[in-house]
Amino acid sequence: MKIIVSSCLLGNNCKYDGTNNKQEDLLSLSKRYELIPVCPEVMGGLSIPRLPAEIINGKVINLANEDVSAFYQLGASKVLQIALENECQIAILKSNSPSCGYGTIYDGTFCHHLINGNGITSELLFKNGVVILNEKNYHEKL
Ligand code: SF4
Repeated sequence: MKIIVSSCLLGNNCKYDGTNNKQEDLLSLSKRYELIPVCPEVMGGLSIPRLPAEIINGKVINLANEDVSAFYQLGASKVLQIALENECQIAILKSNSPSCGYGTIYDGTFCHHLINGNGITSELLFKNGVVILNEKNYHEKL
């Protein structure tokens, strides 16, 4: 089985600040599944590093108050294409991210406050039938 995984969780330095969110235990899943790393923000054309961004009223706004939604939407569509081509039914995506978060995301104030909501990529994958897990709960399903 092939599983889409947020690239930063696998140790790739694609976070906005050029670091990663490596999860050692997640790496061991590669013994049982084919993991497909994706970073929708980079795939959408954003650089490393880049300004942090959060979702406000359905738009993705960065710290300079620029609307960067188009980059996020392009990245999401590319990830969906990969998921469909590889018949991925599960994705393990980084929690709380404006791209990869599922269930909770930051509230748009850049103050680390969480609200209910989904990132742009998670929402698109979910609408297309992909089960979204994150680095905290994937053990329960896999
Ligand atoms: S877009 Fe997703 S994969 Fe890329 S750095 Fe952010 S959380 Fe990680």
